Amino acid sequence: MSDHCQNCGACCAHYRVSFYWGESDAAQGGSVPARLTIPIHSIYVAMRGTDHHPSRCVALTGKIGEAVSCSIYEQRSSTCKEVMAGDEQCNKARQAYNLSPIIDQPKETAEVFC
Ligand code: SF4
Ligand code: SF4
Repeated sequence: MSDHCQNCGACCAHYRVSFYWGESDAAQGGSVPARLTIPIHSIYVAMRGTDHHPSRCVALTGKIGEAVSCSIYEQRSSTCKEVMAGDEQCNKARQAYNLSPIIDQPKETAEVFC
């Protein structure tokens, strides 16, 4: 987890975090705790807390923009892993929380938080 992410958490409280239900532990081989998800479509679920506004994933702990962590980091979904510190989604979420954009970290070396 990058230093940026540990002091941020914006993307975990800005987007609807949805993914194929098979990534939840309701399916064999899934990892995301199903109790932390809600169905949004016949084959998709979302992290609880991210399906409405204001949004905040139930797995996010701490204070956005100060110190945060993901309580299911090792079990998080592919959607969470796709956002990288410094990419477009990241900086859009940061902007929503009046956090400065990340421009000093090449995407390919950024560590993924969510
Ligand atoms: S990926 Fe970007 S928006 Fe998400 S926690 Fe990290 S720094 Fe914040
Ligand atoms: S990385 Fe963790 S806290 Fe962030 S959206 Fe995914 S599950 Fe929620």
